[in-house]
Amino acid sequence: MTKTIVIGAGAAGAPLAARLSEDRDREVLVIEAGSVSADVPPELLDASTVQAAAPGHPANWAYPADLAPGVPYLVARGRVLGGSSTINGGGFVRPRPEDCAAWAAAAGPAWSYEALLPVMRALERDLDFGAGPVHGDAGPIPVRRPAQDNPAARAFAAAALECGFRLEHDKNAPGMPGVGPIPSNIVDGVRVNTGLAYLAEARGRPNLRLIGDTQAQRIVFQCTRAIGVETSDGVHVADEIVLCAGSIGSTQLLLASGIGPRADLEALGIPLVADLPVGQAFSDHPHVTLPWRAARRLGTASERFAFSTALNFFSGVRAEAGARDFTSTGDLEILLAVKPIDYLLSGAFADSTAQPEGEPFQLIISLQGPEGRGRITLASADPLTPPRIEYRYLESAVDRARLRVGVRTAAAVLRADAFASVFAGFRDLDDRTLADDALLDAWIRAHLGTALHLSGTAPMGTVTDAAGRVRDVQGLRVADTSILPVVPTRGPSASAVLIGEVVARAIRSGG
Ligand SMILES: Cc1cc2nc3c(=O)[nH]c(=O)nc-3n(C[C@H](O)[C@H](O)[C@H](O)COP(=O)(O)OP(=O)(O)OC[C@H]3O[C@@H](n4cnc5c(N)ncnc54)[C@H](O)[C@@H]3O)c2cc1C
Repeated sequence: MTKTIVIGAGAAGAPLAARLSEDRDREVLVIEAGSVSADVPPELLDASTVQAAAPGHPANWAYPADLAPGVPYLVARGRVLGGSSTINGGGFVRPRPEDCAAWAAAAGPAWSYEALLPVMRALERDLDFGAGPVHGDAGPIPVRRPAQDNPAARAFAAAALECGFRLEHDKNAPGMPGVGPIPSNIVDGVRVNTGLAYLAEARGRPNLRLIGDTQAQRIVFQCTRAIGVETSDGVHVADEIVLCAGSIGSTQLLLASGIGPRADLEALGIPLVADLPVGQAFSDHPHVTLPWRAARRLGTASERFAFSTALNFFSGVRAEAGARDFTSTGDLEILLAVKPIDYLLSGAFADSTAQPEGEPFQLIISLQGPEGRGRITLASADPLTPPRIEYRYLESAVDRARLRVGVRTAAAVLRADAFASVFAGFRDLDDRTLADDALLDAWIRAHLGTALHLSGTAPMGTVTDAAGRVRDVQGLRVADTSILPVVPTRGPSASAVLIGEVVARAIRSGG
């Protein structure tokens, strides 16, 4: 019997463990730092909020980071069965064909859109489109597009059309980007995380074991062969180990185990196993929140989702020759939240009479094609000390120019005639700021956040091969968003599930 250890039961790890344990001659042990209880707390099921994104929630790692020098941030990541898929916004949008082409350029044809489409169809149960050449109706992840009947959602789409953008009915099909509903793994208000979708039944299999509340600390090597996983309970041995601890967790484990840049590891006294560029150039979507006040009450508890509609488009800002072209996929996203800001993190509506100037809502403007790259390094050789995460946002002039287009476009959409019936004004943005690049750059820095889509710390091509196998060592793979050569131009939740499925297929077929 082959024994495989999977570290992390998140968006990629849960699918991977479920698929591997379909082979009855394989023993699968999943080690997860958070709870693996089958009873999911109600606030984690409630897709109309993102309550666990608040620092301090037990299901959130809340890693300290710097978005830019002097801009500290606590990065939410799920620490629970389902990982970040249990605490996220529920958007389940496939990578675009152009994203897959960028991955295939580094990883080979197995990552082309044509090669991945059958897997994307097999992992979903599209409740709107059903089975067809683009969609599947029998996979573990239910996908539904939220109703667009909220007054803000209707007005937002109409305002985007008024500003010259096109409708995009299905963001999970190829075609030009535009405004439309966000495909989501939300059914009847429940966020169907990967723990529910993949492991609810599979966890009853005799060859699958889940250990919760246990943090993997290091991979144990014999020369360059990975032979076990060190935890506070001791060492668990295996024939193969697959890191699915997410772009931060897997990176920390690789570095703490001696896989990373030689000079960095030597400086901390960590014995080198393989000199590889781990954590050196990650990508994520910087975002800017634009707060606005509603002219009337918009959010209702009966609408059990938070993010209904998104506008994807190309900024028109071109980078230097040779850089990726975003004309056909879009490099900006404007996301409409149909719940007031406070409600998203608390699950409670504020007393509207206490807000005579109008309920506070937000548009989230994300740069989906960032040029900037960040770095993760160890702060200490102690595997329990959080790593140092430097996003280095806003260093690229192209990124700043694209974000300015994003904010100006969002402001124009809010001010369009079609939005007038719901719009009472901006909270803190004025025409002087909008007109002046330097003032707008400062406003953007003051409203800077991250979409929490961190990817590419152990990219295919340089750190792993196309099947997640870590170069220069044996018996060790990475299968989570760390291996994406670059963050997709949409949210990576669907890509993470895809990675779990693709690497599981490679392992099962002996690749
Ligand atoms: C608040 C929030 C909102 C988001 N909204 C969206 C959205 O709407 N749409 C979208 O597409 N994407 C969204 N994302 C991003 C998306 O959820 C992630 O990109 C995706 O879940 C990453 O999958 P993963 O498998 O790489 O990592 P995760 O899903 O984060 O899984 C990693 C797992 O490994 C475990 N782990 C980590 N370290 C260790 C260790 N040392 N030992 C044992 N276990 C460990 C963690 O506890 C976790 O369970 C959001 C993310 C967050 C945090």
